[in-house]
Amino acid sequence: MPESFSHQTWEERWHPLREEWVIVAAHRQSRPWIGETVRADEHDAPAYVSDCYLCPGNVRVSGGVNPRYSGVHVFDNDHPCVGHAAPTQLDAPLPPYKVRSADGVARVISYTPRHDLTLARMRVSDIAAIVDTWRRETRDLGARPEVKQVLIFENKGEVVGVSNPHPHGQIYATNFTWKTFDTELEAQRRYARDTGRALFADIVAAERQDGRRVLYEDEHAIVFVPYFARYAYEVYVAPKRRMSHVSSLSDVEAESLARALKDVTVRYDNLWKQSFPYVMPLHQAPTDDGNYDDFHFFIGFLPPLRRPETLKYLAGPEIGGGNFLSDTSPEEKAAELRAQPTVHYREAEAAGVKVRAGS
Ligand SMILES: [Zn+2]
Repeated sequence: MPESFSHQTWEERWHPLREEWVIVAAHRQSRPWIGETVRADEHDAPAYVSDCYLCPGNVRVSGGVNPRYSGVHVFDNDHPCVGHAAPTQLDAPLPPYKVRSADGVARVISYTPRHDLTLARMRVSDIAAIVDTWRRETRDLGARPEVKQVLIFENKGEVVGVSNPHPHGQIYATNFTWKTFDTELEAQRRYARDTGRALFADIVAAERQDGRRVLYEDEHAIVFVPYFARYAYEVYVAPKRRMSHVSSLSDVEAESLARALKDVTVRYDNLWKQSFPYVMPLHQAPTDDGNYDDFHFFIGFLPPLRRPETLKYLAGPEIGGGNFLSDTSPEEKAAELRAQPTVHYREAEAAGVKVRAGS
């Protein structure tokens, strides 16, 4: 890649799924981060921690006891944001205000009994078991009449507020639909109506044709930094076949998705030789009786860091104006990720293998 390239991207890119502009002002950044790697305080976590609320056999704050589980373990969140226990007798506010009961289900998915692992360090077969759990939970919770949408996500890293490193995700099955997916659904419906084509399939086709931002591809799944990325190192992981929910993945597609998740999380960790933080939502359609044939399920990775220990601050443009200003070019960030080895650096170190970037 020409050295000058990263300094020249200065334009507005259309985000077709959000139907909004993203300002890419990569010329403002002095230069890509190339300094010494500062390894975050990464001591070896033990495989078991006696006061962790996710480790097997431990007593939780609610008094619940974790079984001595061996694979993935799902349980109701002890501090739910929505739940059947929420008050139903509510004070009616003055118009135009509205209120209703915070009904729904909140659960925690412990990925593994091992306190010291992350997706990047798990086996593909173990990640496939997590994908299988997503399928089952979406099917089961989505079938409940009070649940309009099943939001599944992982927050990873202290920088996004996670103090317990035990690998886990969360489920919010709510009595409302989430704004991000409403927006994406509407954009995909409008595109289909206007062009007779599928928006997400066209996004994938454009990424494949360009090729510079594609990190991984196999028969059933594709991983790329989208052209319209709002965050540095933002990545989409998607099945190629259109489906509105993760629950529609076939077994072979689920395994592909697991390989794709392993690939991107290993690249992330290898980037700065540290456990890479992110917010990772599953983008799914609602679970009521509506027609969601236009919606294409995918997984988004939204990393909060622009450089090691440098947060992307959301400020005037994002919080104030509601559009993103990106200081980095998606091509440059994709090139950095593409150059990473697909063997985790800690496994490589343990094996005594010298892994060069780009190998
Ligand atoms: Zn633990």
